[in-house]
Amino acid sequence: MKNNKTKILIAAAEITPIAKVGGLGDVIGALPRALKKLNLDARVIIPFYGLIEKNKYQLKLIKNNIKVQTKIAAELIGLWQTTLPGSEVPVYLIEHNFFKGQNIYSSQFSGVSELYPSDLIDIEKFVFFSRAILESIKALNFKPDVIHLNDWHTAAVTLFLKTLYKKDPGLKKIKTLYTIHNLANQGITDPQVIKLNKINPNLASILEDQKDKNINFMVQGILNSSLINTVSPTYAREILTKEYGAGLENILALRNQELYGILNGLDTDFFNPATDKFIKQGYSPKTPEKKMANKLYLQQKLGLPQNKNTALVGLVSRFVWQKGLELITEKFVRAIHEFPLPCQFVFLGTGEKRYETALVKLAKKYPNKFNVQIKFDEKLAHEIYAGSDIFLVPSLFEPCGLTPMIAMRYGSVPLVRSTGGLKDTVNNQVGFTFKKFNSNELGKTLEKALDIFCHQPKIWRQLQLNGMKQDFSWGKSARQYLKLYKKLLNKK
Ligand code: ADP
Repeated sequence: MKNNKTKILIAAAEITPIAKVGGLGDVIGALPRALKKLNLDARVIIPFYGLIEKNKYQLKLIKNNIKVQTKIAAELIGLWQTTLPGSEVPVYLIEHNFFKGQNIYSSQFSGVSELYPSDLIDIEKFVFFSRAILESIKALNFKPDVIHLNDWHTAAVTLFLKTLYKKDPGLKKIKTLYTIHNLANQGITDPQVIKLNKINPNLASILEDQKDKNINFMVQGILNSSLINTVSPTYAREILTKEYGAGLENILALRNQELYGILNGLDTDFFNPATDKFIKQGYSPKTPEKKMANKLYLQQKLGLPQNKNTALVGLVSRFVWQKGLELITEKFVRAIHEFPLPCQFVFLGTGEKRYETALVKLAKKYPNKFNVQIKFDEKLAHEIYAGSDIFLVPSLFEPCGLTPMIAMRYGSVPLVRSTGGLKDTVNNQVGFTFKKFNSNELGKTLEKALDIFCHQPKIWRQLQLNGMKQDFSWGKSARQYLKLYKKLLNKK
């Protein structure tokens, strides 16, 4: 039977729950389900990392020995297939030695520092992945109308389509959407990569990019894709400014008219306090009082004093410079301890050593106030959403920010710095915001929140309920993506 549906192949480095580091995985794990509901033929392609459990996800080898020509020789890849758990979305996984390692990113985490935000050692791996995506399409009986690319890891697809595969009859008509999930991670490397991959060095985007003597895969994605979007309307505007443009504001300005902002949704089945298997006690907007059992349980589990009237302040995050962890100074915690303010903190995350070390030190010094868990732990993350009263997101910048949305769904009131996607999701009907990036502002806002928490329980309950009743489902965002895909199909 002929398949007349619009065919979308989503290519990315992560997908929840199969291989997740952060928000990128959550988006890729949820968007295609929502697209299916809009009657699109949506599929996903990712690398087959060593950490992926073959049996757990019932992976099947569907093609073997697909040739991918690289700089030196013809490499062979295997193509595996599964479906996204709980859906009918096909997921393809590309098998090659490049991806055998136990980490998704070879660098410890994505976004190494302010100065070198890209992951140099990952470049070769993801450029190969990009090339392998196109060879996989040729080997499959599935010709997408659109390849939806996500962040620099898959940006080289646009470059290959404009050069090596320009005349390929099976590929030349394919349109690309390039989604920027985080402009800070750019995939910067030596220009040699162009020669090594036999890409035409006179391509306009290469000439533009090489002005600073580097090749930047984020730049290539921006300049060569058919359309671009990012993950919130505010961030889409912010990245055109020097403050948030991460050095690419002028490049983005070249495509200003083709840059869209679509707020991410949430997988509202995975993040649902009524059915969540990870948490102690289920609850809903009809039974918010049941949330308390989760707080008492979490306090006990973490070894914090068990007290209903002490506000539990949660944070779940990658510990990287973007997330505003430097606002949580020794002075800040000491002031809260000595004042004292009726709150306790629990922070869950992994990332840069400098943050891990500083936070662990605070936890040792103030064990009754401050608890830190250095790990990636999906269950504990859900327990924190369910058990906390206040959820902290003090980011320096934030493309979308899924955590405050999840927190609201679990009746934890967000306290965020007003930036990027956080501006689009948190207002004074559902939470607390501050503007200036400093500990003082954060402290004052926390005091305000605690005052309402302690003295105005009705208003507090209303804030919780307003948050819990927000519609964060993917339906609305998926319809906006559908519009962009349609625009692409009508593009020459
Ligand atoms: P980012 O995309 O920058 O990582 P988001 O707020 O958009 O930030 O998404 C973060 C996602 O990763 C959320 O689902 C959050 O719960 C999850 N997460 C982050 N760190 C951890 C951790 N240490 N353990 C479990 N989940 C985590």
